[in-house]
Amino acid sequence: MIDLNRRGLMLAAGGALASGAMGMPAWAQQPGRKLGYAIVGLGGYGLGIIIPQFKNCQHSKLVALVSGDPAKAKKVAADHGVPERGIYNYQNFDSIRDNPDVDIVYICLPVSMHLEYTERAAAAGKHVLCEKPMALTSKECEQMIAACRKAGKKLMIGYRSHFEPHNLEAMRRARSGEIGKLRYFRSEHGFTASGGPDNWRLKKAMSGGGSMMDIGIYALQAARYMVGEEPIAVYAKETTDKSDPRFREVEDMIEFQLEFPSGVIGSCMSMYSANQNHLLLMGDKGRIEMEPATGYDGHKLWVGKNRSDETLVTPKPGPAATQWAGQLDHMSQCVLQNREPIVAGEEGLRDIRIIEAVYRSAREQKRIALR
Ligand code: NAD
Repeated sequence: MIDLNRRGLMLAAGGALASGAMGMPAWAQQPGRKLGYAIVGLGGYGLGIIIPQFKNCQHSKLVALVSGDPAKAKKVAADHGVPERGIYNYQNFDSIRDNPDVDIVYICLPVSMHLEYTERAAAAGKHVLCEKPMALTSKECEQMIAACRKAGKKLMIGYRSHFEPHNLEAMRRARSGEIGKLRYFRSEHGFTASGGPDNWRLKKAMSGGGSMMDIGIYALQAARYMVGEEPIAVYAKETTDKSDPRFREVEDMIEFQLEFPSGVIGSCMSMYSANQNHLLLMGDKGRIEMEPATGYDGHKLWVGKNRSDETLVTPKPGPAATQWAGQLDHMSQCVLQNREPIVAGEEGLRDIRIIEAVYRSAREQKRIALR
C-alpha cells in the first residue's frame, strides 16, 4: 500500500506556485537538449491536442507514434516529421526499448489501457506521462507507481491545469490571504456526452465510471489545489436517468461534498448531460471565481468581495507558450534534472482514492471518512 499525505499536494501546488510567483522557473530558462516523446493513441486528445503542441515546446519533441491504424500513423508521421523507425503499433510497442530517440512515452488511451501501457513503457526503460484519470482503480494506480519505481523511471499525470496561468494565479491568491480565511469551494464541471456506440467513455470496463472519472475529476482536483488541503470525508449523491441509453453503464450526474480539515466545505457537481466549467472559492473577506476554469482556452478569473465588486484579473503569461507545452516541458525537465513531477503518479492515485470514496458514498448513501 502506498502511503500518501497532505504534504504531497502542498509540494505539488507549491512547486507550480513558486514558478508563477517568482517568474520563470529555472527549467524554463534553460534552452537545451530536447527529450523525445512517443505518443500512444492518436485519438481526439493525442492527435488533436497534444501533437500540435510540440512546436511550442523548448525541451520536448515528437519522435514516435503508437497507433493501431498503419495508414493514419504514416500520414501523421509525415505531417509531423516523425521518421518511419518511430512508427509503432500495439503489438510491437515493446520494441520501443531499442529506440534511443524515445525518452518519454505519453499515454493518450482509454483509461482501461493506462496500466498496461505504463507497465510496458517502464519495462522498456521509458519515462511515462499518462493521461487522467490515472487508472480504473486505486490498485491499478499503485501498480503503475510500482512499475515506474522498479524501472527507475518518472511517472507524471496529465493534469494540465497545474501549468495554466489563470489557475496558478487563482491558487496564489487563495494562499495569499487576500480573500481571508477560506470557507467554501464550489465547482460544476460537465459536458454533454455523445451517445455513439464507439464511445468508450460510456463503457464502464473501459472508463471505470461516468462523468466523475472523466470531467468531475477536474472539480475534485481544483477543490484540492484551491483549498490547499486534503479532504477528510466525502458525501455524494448520484442522479442518472437509466432510461437514457448513454447511461446504461455509467453515471450522469454526481454531486459530492468534500470536508477539509480547516472546516472548508467543497461542493462539487459532475455531469455528462450539461456543459459547465466553473469554480468559486469563498473566504470571509472575498471570493475568487473562474469560468471557464479548467478548459482548453478562454479562461476568466475574477477576484473581489462579491459579484458587484470584483475585478477581472489577467495573469501574466506563464513560462510556457501554452498549458500543454508547460506540461510537456515540465516532464522533460524533471527527467533531465532528476526531479519529481509536481503532478506525479501519487497525485493521480490520491484522486482515484477519493473518487472511489465518492462512488461508495453515493452507493451506500452515507458519509465516507477518508484516511
Ligand atoms: P479517443 O477515443 O479520442 O482516443 C483514444 C485513442 O485510443 C484512439 O486513437 C483509439 O484508436 C485508441 N485505442 C486503442 N485501443 C483502443 C480500444 N481498445 N478502444 C478504444 N480506443 C482505442 O479518446 P481521447 O479523448 O483522446 O482520450 C484519451 C485519454 O486522454 C483519456 O485518458 C482521456 O481521459 C484523456 N483526455 C484528457 C484530456 C485533458 O484535457 N487532459 C482531454 C481529453 C482526453
